Amino acid sequence: MNLTLYGYDEHWIAVDCGMMIRQDLPNSPLQVPNLDTPKALGIIPKALFITHGHEDHIGAVAWLWPTWNCPIYATPLAAGLLRLKFAEHGLSSAAIQVIEPGEALESGPFTLRYLALTHSIPESCAILMMAGGYRVLHTGDWKLDPEPLIGTPMSAAQFRALAPLDLVVGDSTNAPMPGHSGSEGDVARALAKTLASCQGRVVISCFASNLARVLAIGRAAQQCGRRISLMGRSMERMVSVARGLGYMDDLPPLVPNHDLGYLPPDEVVIIATGSQGEPRAALQRLAQGRHPFVDLQPGDNVIFSAKAIPGNERPIEQLKKRLSQLGVRLFDEVNHPELHATGHPAQEELIKLYQWVKPKYLMPVHGEARHQQAHQAIAQQLGISAPLTPVNGDLISFDNHGLHCEMRYPQPPCIVSQNSVVPHPGLEVSGANKARRGSLYLALPVTATDTGWARIGRLMLDASGTSPLDEDSFSDWLDEQLDEIAAETLADLRQALQPRLIRWLADHMQHLPEVHLQIMAAEMPEALTLDSAAHR
Ligand SMILES: [Zn+2]
Ligand SMILES: [Zn+2]
Repeated sequence: MNLTLYGYDEHWIAVDCGMMIRQDLPNSPLQVPNLDTPKALGIIPKALFITHGHEDHIGAVAWLWPTWNCPIYATPLAAGLLRLKFAEHGLSSAAIQVIEPGEALESGPFTLRYLALTHSIPESCAILMMAGGYRVLHTGDWKLDPEPLIGTPMSAAQFRALAPLDLVVGDSTNAPMPGHSGSEGDVARALAKTLASCQGRVVISCFASNLARVLAIGRAAQQCGRRISLMGRSMERMVSVARGLGYMDDLPPLVPNHDLGYLPPDEVVIIATGSQGEPRAALQRLAQGRHPFVDLQPGDNVIFSAKAIPGNERPIEQLKKRLSQLGVRLFDEVNHPELHATGHPAQEELIKLYQWVKPKYLMPVHGEARHQQAHQAIAQQLGISAPLTPVNGDLISFDNHGLHCEMRYPQPPCIVSQNSVVPHPGLEVSGANKARRGSLYLALPVTATDTGWARIGRLMLDASGTSPLDEDSFSDWLDEQLDEIAAETLADLRQALQPRLIRWLADHMQHLPEVHLQIMAAEMPEALTLDSAAHR
């Protein structure tokens, strides 16, 4: 859940604005940064700079940016993902501006330059910040990947040219890990070898944003005569945006999910979301035998090409248990560590970067206390001063005297409900909740397909003041309806959908609520429109 505010001479800028999923709370709500402290201090950033497209760096933008209303700078992939989120929230994406790796720009006293890195998503960038004669490198997430598959390896010369830096604000995630993080190229070869040895269906679960991995799986499948199919909304969305940018040009043709039943199991590879045990994701549906088109059989294979994010261990264990009960052969990080590589730098990589850029000070961020402490120890070993391991809410000064924690502001969690229209924090109208008792609000961003309509992104449903509703079956039903309705205009769609909606709710809820239906046209990159039609 990354958000860093940098200020110089009363001018503030923000770097990243991420969210996290609270799998430990009922219904796995989203948590976003709490803006009470900056608000109390009168801090309003004049610009938001995004380092890369991972949810822990962009996931809260659509929720929090409306209180800032400033320009947003992001590389093409992150910008494409942000535009989709803005469409889901009914926000105009006019503030989102594309910046290419290598480019520089100014905001007040700050000069910023985007520097290309390697990570587990394309176009990840560090940001070099200069203000008042100080030079600070905010690394964002990175690793040194000699063979990233998509994009080029990091340029040692470019980073050497930055030395000496005053301060590095750096990724601590894998600081306790000796050695090297491993390369996407090595994982690709391991996946190809494993796939060639498998019989029956193969389901591979990885992060949708790891496009190099998705591409590697596609190529490996093709080599052993298998066809690929994507499963899960975030996988389809990510691949569509990437295709629009030309990243997936040699991904083999995709088989729609509903045609998978016609293929012999030995010719199938399914690339699925859900490696973290998420309750609604594709892999969970397969494990529970709830997928409409695929039933996993004994002898089929499931490969976890991802690591457990801390906090998700329990749901992942339950998922694996279910899969084992189906008689499926499991490959995971424990029995086959070669099938995944982390996206964050281990000790050898941290040391190498710091030898390149020669920072005077280091501030270890992005990780828990033990990761930050391991990072601090590496700095000390290199003669870099790293006096602080900051926590969320710390106000830190940096000047000729070094780094000092000025004040520690406690940060109560700010939870937003994953599938609900919750007023944007800061825009809340008092008393609005009372009026909603017994009412169901459904906001539906849609786009036309060849046959009907398709919903874009998450279901935005607020049924909090009504009798209970099974959101999973509701969203499945809704998608079927949209696909079927051959309405020409949004008004026709609305007229056709509203009575069906009320009938369904009457059948599935104890009390029929007052229904507020809002249908809106989502702005879409062309590629996604075609793609979601192809995969329905
Ligand atoms: Zn991150
Ligand atoms: Zn990341």
